[in-house]
Amino acid sequence: MKKHINIPIFIPHVGCPNACVFCNQRKISGHARFEKYAVREELERAFSTVDGTLPTQIAYFGGSFTGIDRDEMEALLRLAGEYIDGGLCESVRISTRPDYIDREILELLRKYRVRTVELGIQSTDDAVLRACNRGHTAQDSFRAAALVKEYGFELIGQMMVGLPASTAESERQTALNICRMGADGARIYPTVVFAETALAEMTANGTYQPLTEESSVLRAANALAVFLENGVPVIRLGLQSGEALESGDGVVAGGYHPAVGEMAYSVCFRDMLAASLGQMETAGRSALVRAHPSDVSKVIGQRGANRNDLIGRFFLKEFRVVADGGAVKNHPTVSLL
Ligand code: SF4
Repeated sequence: MKKHINIPIFIPHVGCPNACVFCNQRKISGHARFEKYAVREELERAFSTVDGTLPTQIAYFGGSFTGIDRDEMEALLRLAGEYIDGGLCESVRISTRPDYIDREILELLRKYRVRTVELGIQSTDDAVLRACNRGHTAQDSFRAAALVKEYGFELIGQMMVGLPASTAESERQTALNICRMGADGARIYPTVVFAETALAEMTANGTYQPLTEESSVLRAANALAVFLENGVPVIRLGLQSGEALESGDGVVAGGYHPAVGEMAYSVCFRDMLAASLGQMETAGRSALVRAHPSDVSKVIGQRGANRNDLIGRFFLKEFRVVADGGAVKNHPTVSLL
């Protein structure tokens, strides 16, 4: 997947007749409502801060883009087209539900130079989709993903962990299915309980057990490991910080922690290194880990947690981590000295 910059434009809940139990788009995006006429202004503001060194995409996020009023959708795509024609950006990215994808929609997206389609798959377990009142089945996701790929779009699969009726095993399976769909990237969102949602009621009446900080990290790591094993880049782990979240406004419970991504990677790296060390005669030896510079702090873990754990578990004399620009990102390796 090409490195690029997104200019995100949030279109919360516009056109969405569904009522997923976890959804409160206004809180997620930090935008109280969508104002069509403000989009141009927002784009102008955003482009004035982009330095143009990386390819740029206008990203219509937040709602179910292909479910909004057709004229409105085309107007937004035409607007993005003006920036493409002006050489300010390269293409468009949209996010939508799997059941709002068909050939006609994809033709239209292609015409307006959309390059990336993000599908809100959330789970490929029908029991979970039913418990979330999601309103579509896993089959819809498989069908939509196949069509998106057939039309040559870049596919990003979005999934959630900790949803009602979901288990760690079903989340591993969802991650694996997203890989098998041929996804070019994935997003993992630990479930957050927002005020004024059905999930908040389910939490209050005890029919749903929200993720704790620890369980959100472990469940996210469990899904992340599948993407890492299959070489599918995870472009986001955890909700983006937004005004509503930063102020704490509207969050009742669940997996919202600014460092959840960092912590989940840390768990994965610990498990990878433990698997390698488990194959070696480690007692009394020193371990040398080579890691991409951006992975070093995650390899060591918060307050040295991974280092201490691995030293204790494998009776190591020492645990050294070397930042190595030549190391493969997300794949630290270990040898013994
Ligand atoms: S489909 Fe998307 S926007 Fe609509 S209720 Fe569900 S999560 Fe919210």
